[in-house]
Amino acid sequence: MTDTPPGEGRQHHGNPPSKCVCPQCGYKADKSPAVPCWSMRCPKCETMMVGG
Ligand SMILES: [Zn+2]
Repeated sequence: MTDTPPGEGRQHHGNPPSKCVCPQCGYKADKSPAVPCWSMRCPKCETMMVGG
């Protein structure tokens, strides 16, 4: 038995990413917790955003 919760895996230090970034033009947008970055589009170039 271990104390590691199942399915947790390794976590990054600090806060989780709170911004989505456009890989095309570098535009950054605040991330909504309920909305994954890849479902957002950059308002400038309409590229799919990625998580920061
Ligand atoms: Zn863009």
